[in-house]
Amino acid sequence: MGDDKISRRDFLGTSSVAATGVMAGGSTQPAVAQLAEDYVQPDFAVRTKALVTVLTRKNLVDQAAIDAVVDYYENTVGPHIGAQLVARSWVNPEFRGRLLDDMRAVARELGLTGVQGTDLVAVQNTPDVHNLVVCTLCSCYPWPILGLPPTWYKDTAYRARAVIDPRGVLREFGTDIPDNVEVKVWDSTAEVRYLVIPERPAGSEGMSEDELAALVTRDSMIGAEKLAPVA
Ligand code: FE
Repeated sequence: MGDDKISRRDFLGTSSVAATGVMAGGSTQPAVAQLAEDYVQPDFAVRTKALVTVLTRKNLVDQAAIDAVVDYYENTVGPHIGAQLVARSWVNPEFRGRLLDDMRAVARELGLTGVQGTDLVAVQNTPDVHNLVVCTLCSCYPWPILGLPPTWYKDTAYRARAVIDPRGVLREFGTDIPDNVEVKVWDSTAEVRYLVIPERPAGSEGMSEDELAALVTRDSMIGAEKLAPVA
């Protein structure tokens, strides 16, 4: 029995170093970095590692299987998929129409995995409308299109404030939305996930689809930022 027990004291001693490393990963924007810092508390990392350690020791989960899942969401799916869809929608109006009409059907056509059972909805930013995505209840997110959600997306402050004061939240992201532009907030659920098609940046005329895709950021597809003009 003694061998099965994980010493919490020993465990805390070693895992706090790893947790500090997580906190050190920052963002380029102070406000976002603060949100992330508030969210990524060492305790979460400690608890996660404790859970994995106990389940692995008891042979209830396979570490290789966990690694495979993490690898899948870190390397196979990710914002590069959404960026490709956005870039194609910029150069191909017919594709954009279908994406706006039924993104789940498009995702299935393209053979994207993990799109069963969840509706995927694309909304597009225009000179008159800016869209912002949140999940007020938890952290629902279009994983098959964007991969893992950023930590700030799961933060209670973001989830609460995005619906109460979306312009204020956007301002903290460094995104000023003029008063004459309508801001629409989309609340994700287990059934419906959203992708924002950002406005095509000025100066990107003549660029190829792949070049355009490289301009599209993850945060722009959540609506947290606008894409900068191409220099
Ligand atoms: Fe959720």
